[in-house]
Amino acid sequence: MNMHSTHNTLYINGQWQQGESTIANINPSDTSDIIGHYAQASTAQVKEAIAAAKQAQPEWAQTPMERKQAILQAIGDELIARCDELGRLLSREEGKPFAEGRGEVYRSGQFFHYYAAEVLRQIGDFADSVRTGVKIEVTREAVGVVAIISPWNFPMATAVWKIAPALAYGNSIIWKPANLTPASAVALAEILHRHGIPAGVFNLVLGSGSHVGDTLIHSTEIDAVSFTGSVDVGRKIAAATAPNFVRCQLEMGSKNALVVAHDADLDIAVEATIAGSFSGAGQKCTASSRLIVMDSVYDEYLEKLIARMKTLKVGHALEDGVFMGPVVDEKQLTANLDWVEKAKKLGAEVAFGGNRLDMPHNGYYMAPTLLTGTQNDWEINQEEVFAPLACVIRIQDSIEEAIALTNATRFGLTGGIITQSLRYSALFKEQVQAGCVMVNLPTAGTDYHVPFGGRKSSSFGPREQGQYAKEFYTIVKTAYQRAY
Ligand code: NDP
Repeated sequence: MNMHSTHNTLYINGQWQQGESTIANINPSDTSDIIGHYAQASTAQVKEAIAAAKQAQPEWAQTPMERKQAILQAIGDELIARCDELGRLLSREEGKPFAEGRGEVYRSGQFFHYYAAEVLRQIGDFADSVRTGVKIEVTREAVGVVAIISPWNFPMATAVWKIAPALAYGNSIIWKPANLTPASAVALAEILHRHGIPAGVFNLVLGSGSHVGDTLIHSTEIDAVSFTGSVDVGRKIAAATAPNFVRCQLEMGSKNALVVAHDADLDIAVEATIAGSFSGAGQKCTASSRLIVMDSVYDEYLEKLIARMKTLKVGHALEDGVFMGPVVDEKQLTANLDWVEKAKKLGAEVAFGGNRLDMPHNGYYMAPTLLTGTQNDWEINQEEVFAPLACVIRIQDSIEEAIALTNATRFGLTGGIITQSLRYSALFKEQVQAGCVMVNLPTAGTDYHVPFGGRKSSSFGPREQGQYAKEFYTIVKTAYQRAY
């Protein structure tokens, strides 16, 4: 299926346009499979999209709420109805197994449904004044023009959990998805177009971060930037937006720990590790990259985990029964294997995997990898690796040590513990410096109706998702009126 052979894949002011060049979108499961050629926007086109968004936003904010609600609902309906087809496309360009690709499209539909309902929840605050006869209303208005910059690892969901609330609260959008995953972005834009989003309210500008992204974040015509991706780019966005007083929301990397306590149910521990460390080929900001394991269950847990890892089928994302697809590209694979070598030099042992896998298709396949004998202060346990790679850190049977090590990182997105102890669970939930804390669950996997975000270098700005999203996508007005 070659979706856009004409290369008209920029969506600006309600029109499909060609760019100044194109790039090939390559299937990481099989590099001989070219999904399509996708336009790259020029600087002039990015500016055109910003101008269109600025022009269209006030009318969108004034559009009757039932109309906005109906549009968002219909977009959600179509995503859910087409989750098989679009999930296949997403898996084909990103490399996650079909079940995960389908799940991501389905979840994207749920985000639209959730924010469709939020459109109707127009509840503000009302207050008496300290002055007699004066009444006060506190209302929320759209922020204005929002630039959305999203990553490749959840090419649809990370964007949709920004796009849906931005639209629900009356903003207009310029979206720059990751250049590695343009096909699912174009498919989503087609759906938005079909369901009657007015021209200019939603714009899709494909292109590189260093060009299209850079133009967007330095613009003085935008009001907000919402970003998910790496810390380095997040820092650039904070630096670019601050002088213009453009608000920004950054969701970045992490170094999440899963603690396996001495009283853990080891079957739960093993399944949580498999899901947290290896689903999505470990390319998740919520992945369990550090496994902090207490001494008295260490041997039994490792034995069970390695036995389970042996059963994981790695292969083409669209093949039946595949648990783990390829990593996203050659650069990522090379970097992952370098991390393994560096850790080995420091004394880590490869308990499983650690190598590239040869497959019938030419793709970027890496074995799920488990390194033991690692120390928390090693670089591999401090930097985001973004690979199907987990490092085991052995500790005494001490909840205090487990919590201290969980927190001994500059990041703080998620943290998890497997335990049967109410006390351990309570202490962990209270003392872990992370945005999301999981007990007897994987560190990855969150719901869509509650806030998502982290602390320290993992996040900057207000939370995403659920009703908390309105803190970013709206601005508060306090109106005073003398009644008599
Ligand atoms: P990036 O942070 O580089 O990319 C995320 C998005 O930002 C992409 O759309 C990218 O564009 C864009 N971007 C890149 N440079 C700029 C810039 N100067 N100005 C504005 N936008 C820019 O992440 P990568 O995709 O390169 O992945 C690298 C690493 O980042 C991973 O290995 C992982 O550690 C981390 N990462 C973390 C994620 C998370 O969810 N926490 C998600 C993705 C990555 P382009 O299309 O050019 O890439």
